[in-house]
Amino acid sequence: MTTTTIAIDMDVPAGVSVGEYERIDGGHAFHVSWELPDNLCCETCQRESRLQLVEKNKFLSIRDLDLWGKPSFFVYQEVYHRCPSCGHRQSLLPPFKRRDVKYTFRFEEQVLVSLIGSTAEDVAVRLGIAAETVERIVKNRIEDAKAKQIDPQRKIERLGLDEISLRKGHKGYATILTDLTNGERPEILALSKGRDEAAGRACLEHLSAQQRSAVRWHHTDMSRGVFEGLRRAFTQQPVGNRSLSRRQEIG
Ligand SMILES: [Zn+2]
Repeated sequence: MTTTTIAIDMDVPAGVSVGEYERIDGGHAFHVSWELPDNLCCETCQRESRLQLVEKNKFLSIRDLDLWGKPSFFVYQEVYHRCPSCGHRQSLLPPFKRRDVKYTFRFEEQVLVSLIGSTAEDVAVRLGIAAETVERIVKNRIEDAKAKQIDPQRKIERLGLDEISLRKGHKGYATILTDLTNGERPEILALSKGRDEAAGRACLEHLSAQQRSAVRWHHTDMSRGVFEGLRRAFTQQPVGNRSLSRRQEIG
């Protein structure tokens, strides 16, 4: 068999480098590494020390975005730090994922964006993951959003506010605020529990008054009542000049 080399452009999270590529059954594997910190704080004794690396010959594989319609995975070597003060050994968390999950942050983003206009079951089937994983991602992101601030310098022209449903027949709803300024790459700004006015307000309050007034288009699939309520709540700064356009209008 003859082989040929092809080059692809791939987005890589900051500080991460890609080593080799491997074709695996039904997908793609990228071996990745990241810049390790010089110093680390011990989880147990809280003392900071120089990194004392303990390499383990164990490789972990986690889900990343799809490539050419197939899932791709980040494969990386598990590395530990041994605290010189108390001897505690802790694993180093890569910058592209949170603790105790088997997917990247950007995979989380993909799941959330897919949930707009789809059910959790459909998204789970399409991405080949469990519906529980979808729910866990949403739950974690709602927790994250409580503390997360949106950069006040960020310019947002087009905003989306949508409800996402987690399970048929259950009361699992969340409201998601997305920056649609770059139509090909919606970015999630905030997430909150529920689909009522309070949920919408919790999302919109992440934006400064200046940011809200700079929004030119607003897309929503939330009920008219909820939306009007939100508009009243933010009357000083109307949320946009085409305020109640339906999501389908996004071209
Ligand atoms: Zn220690």
